[in-house]
Amino acid sequence: MTDWKEERVHTIRARQDLPVSFSLYENEEAYFTAAEQQDFQFGFAVTPYYFSLIGDSPDDPLRAQCIPRKDEFKIVEYELQDPLWEKPYSPLPRMVHRYPNRVLVLVTDECALYCRHCFRRYFSSQRGGIISHGQLRKIVEYLQLHTEVQEVILSGGDPLVLGDTRISELLHILRYEVGRTLVLRLASRIPVVMPQRITPQLVKILSQHSPLFVITQFNHSREITPDSRQAVSGLVDAGVPVLNQAVLLKGVNDRLEILAELFQGLLEMRVKPYYLFQGDLAAGTSHFRVPLAEGFDLMRKLRGQVSGLAMPVYAVDLPGGGGKIPLTAHYLEELQEGHYVFIGPDGKRYYYPEEAR
Ligand SMILES: *Cc1c(COP(=O)(O)O)cnc(C)c1O
Ligand code: SF4
Repeated sequence: MTDWKEERVHTIRARQDLPVSFSLYENEEAYFTAAEQQDFQFGFAVTPYYFSLIGDSPDDPLRAQCIPRKDEFKIVEYELQDPLWEKPYSPLPRMVHRYPNRVLVLVTDECALYCRHCFRRYFSSQRGGIISHGQLRKIVEYLQLHTEVQEVILSGGDPLVLGDTRISELLHILRYEVGRTLVLRLASRIPVVMPQRITPQLVKILSQHSPLFVITQFNHSREITPDSRQAVSGLVDAGVPVLNQAVLLKGVNDRLEILAELFQGLLEMRVKPYYLFQGDLAAGTSHFRVPLAEGFDLMRKLRGQVSGLAMPVYAVDLPGGGGKIPLTAHYLEELQEGHYVFIGPDGKRYYYPEEAR
């Protein structure tokens, strides 16, 4: 494995950084041409590691996640820059407090790689920089006052683009200066897009701040490589639990075999599939969105194919700040003559008596 600092230095950040041997398809080329005329720009960055994994075909599932296409400029009527209303739910800069017992802290707006499907594009890559000491201080004071908060989710951007010292400092403050034990959750795509960053030193820091969970985002089984496997093993061996939040993406993973392979692969590397997200209604992501009806259908079939341990909760973060809800109602078909009628994973109807207790 290369050094992560090398990965950072050689990260592809503009069209001209792409190797000359790499040709763009028309739709991709058109993105770069049109991007210059846009007011709003979501960042472009691909790590050399992830770039080495992408294929030549225009519909390669890894390529689609990192090489932009002009479809990003198509904004449909129900899409918003901030679909989850994170801004209105931010009592302090860089802190979203939607659920009473947990808060989300946006540590940095930078990511190692900008996922083309990112829903937090109103913030990520927008040059907001790293959380300041003053901002963190205000958050600590808020947490001291709001004793109902039991968990802090560190997100962004990607918190693991920070150096060891900053990460260690941040975790130390949240662990020791709030005055009670908080569950810490670190949301990061680094194990997938720059696994070199998961060094023994970083693993040590994370393991010293238990209870701390790492939530990552593998979206395709081809992202499970010897390098990402090694990164995840390092964490799990050190007692840091790793969970996965995948996003259901058209042309990337919207097929039964692909999801089954992804979730089984994750389970084999001791990563618990946590959520499978329905695409949020973020501006310029309609080309990735899978109709809800298809998502329901995929999940029902998946139930019959993979271990229960490998099953994530299919969920959507409701537009307008409603929060996350599980999308599972489709098993119950109807109530008929004293029986609940369920549709099993095999698509057949099964009955459960209404009066049973
Ligand atoms: C997703 C999210 C959480 C965490 O939700 P879980 O269901 O516990 O994973 C917390 N706060 C905000 C603002 C979120 O968007
Ligand atoms: S790592 Fe997360 S925040 Fe960063 S671009 Fe990808 S989805 Fe968005």
